[in-house]
Amino acid sequence: MSALLTVAGLTKSFGGVRALDDCGFEVAEGAVSALIGPNGSGKTTAFNVITGYQAADSGSLSFRGRVVRRPDPCRLQRLGLARTFQQPRVFPGLSVLENVVLGRPQPWRALLRRRVPGADRRRAEELLEEFGLAAHAERPAARLSYGQRRLLEFASVLMADPALILLDEPTAGVNPVMVETMERHIRRRYDEGVTFLIVEHEMRFVMRLCDPVIVLDHGRPIACAAPTAVQNDPRVLDAYLGE
Ligand code: ADP
Ligand code: MG
Repeated sequence: MSALLTVAGLTKSFGGVRALDDCGFEVAEGAVSALIGPNGSGKTTAFNVITGYQAADSGSLSFRGRVVRRPDPCRLQRLGLARTFQQPRVFPGLSVLENVVLGRPQPWRALLRRRVPGADRRRAEELLEEFGLAAHAERPAARLSYGQRRLLEFASVLMADPALILLDEPTAGVNPVMVETMERHIRRRYDEGVTFLIVEHEMRFVMRLCDPVIVLDHGRPIACAAPTAVQNDPRVLDAYLGE
């Protein structure tokens, strides 16, 4: 399998804290990879730097065979890289349907137009149907449960038809039924050819779904292997016990 995303030598410090330290890894096309590691090991920072929400101090990134010199969230979204956030980000005052429509890459001026193009609206409605949120389409997103907001954020990034989706703790704070729902949606998109990189604490979820598993510790990868191999790797156990 070839690499869809390659990062090398990523470094990012916050004051005296080195959140990423010469961090490099690859995300194989057509896989569901996990990015795990103790709290504070740099997983979210890796996502932020890769998707252009924070600038790296140094390092390089290539996506779909192109070197991305200055990652920018909108541009990367247009190239096919999407993400969700550890704390789900939705527009609480907008309707659930509007939230999904806004997931489509569009020039900012389009946001000022009142009318949503019919094709976008239909696509958003299909996604809401698929994600079991159709009954909430016209309600403000603020009325959704936490788990439903996670699903809404997932549905909305799909509007951009991404090739790679980075999910930051998709099951955190959601009930077991919703965890299964999330897993089903990931599997379905995976079957359709979407590649995933998932930050996740719930190890049973990782073991069921992800291969390979990349383990970060103090901002750098210490292992990248099949889930069972990672589970038995003494360096990984040490990293978690030293947390
Ligand atoms: P993880 O997602 O693996 O739990 P993070 O990437 O959130 O870890 O954080 C890595 C380290 O960087 C932690 O020590 C955290 O406190 C620090 N950090 C992350 N973001 C910031 C920030 N915006 N300002 C200062 N320190 C930060
Ligand atoms: Mg995090």
